[in-house]
Amino acid sequence: MKHLLLALLALLAGCTSTGHEDLRQSARSQLFHVHALERATAERVLMECEALAPLVLAQPTSAAATPVEIYCVPVKKQYGEGRNLTEGDPELRQVSCIEIDIGRELSWERFVIAHELAHSWLAPEWNPLPQILEEGLADMAGSAADPQAGVCRRLFHGLRLVTWAGIGYPFSSEHDGRREAGMLKLGQPTAGLPTLAQMLELDATSYHDVGGDQNENLLYAVGFALVQQIGVPALKALCARANAQGLAQIPADWLLEAAGLTRATDQLWAICGMRLIGTAEEELLQHCLRDEGPFRFGKP
Ligand SMILES: [Zn+2]
Repeated sequence: MKHLLLALLALLAGCTSTGHEDLRQSARSQLFHVHALERATAERVLMECEALAPLVLAQPTSAAATPVEIYCVPVKKQYGEGRNLTEGDPELRQVSCIEIDIGRELSWERFVIAHELAHSWLAPEWNPLPQILEEGLADMAGSAADPQAGVCRRLFHGLRLVTWAGIGYPFSSEHDGRREAGMLKLGQPTAGLPTLAQMLELDATSYHDVGGDQNENLLYAVGFALVQQIGVPALKALCARANAQGLAQIPADWLLEAAGLTRATDQLWAICGMRLIGTAEEELLQHCLRDEGPFRFGKP
């Protein structure tokens, strides 16, 4: 999910400079070299990677597969995150290795692995894509890898967007015989949130610095919704146009125009988060509202 940028210094050391020295067990295939605390984890993640690789490579943004080093970081969380560690010029997106947090939810883990592999194998012609749109495309790969986790991702993205729009999501639920209804809000944006156009101007290094976690999570939602709205073929054409003009990144105005938006639209547009919440997402929401527990999906 998140990208960390290794300094040029780390080039020689690869990933060893980021606290991977305890991950001494490993499992490998032609494509993957997986490092973990326990052999069983390394072997399980290797099997997941092998199973997910064809799905990721079938994505419209993927180039041919190149070998990937994967570090499995144990975390005390239900849902782990993932990181692509890059080296050199960030615009060239040269991936040095992937970190996968090992949480407790395997369905989500599959989503994260596919998301990170989509970054790793992004074909160079997609490099002009702003980072938040690349995130949206990586989420598409994650959803293809684990549709249940994809439902959860779309629900969260949808709720964050309608919250940003200032409206929230209308819900009603029954719990212990009591009926509840209201407007559900998730992740109120905080100070420092860029405008929609500014979000499209961020790159791999600047998109973490947007005023905190809630804002950063919202950027992922915006990227996902914009990818749906613009469509993959139009995004590919915009990348080709930027490449032809020698531009490092597609100008924000091209993207807004492709989405039928203007700089004046801003957060009002985010009501389109409603479109991400269909029957499956509504069912998951009801499940969560009834259980009052964490968002759960898939088999344990
Ligand atoms: Zn990502």
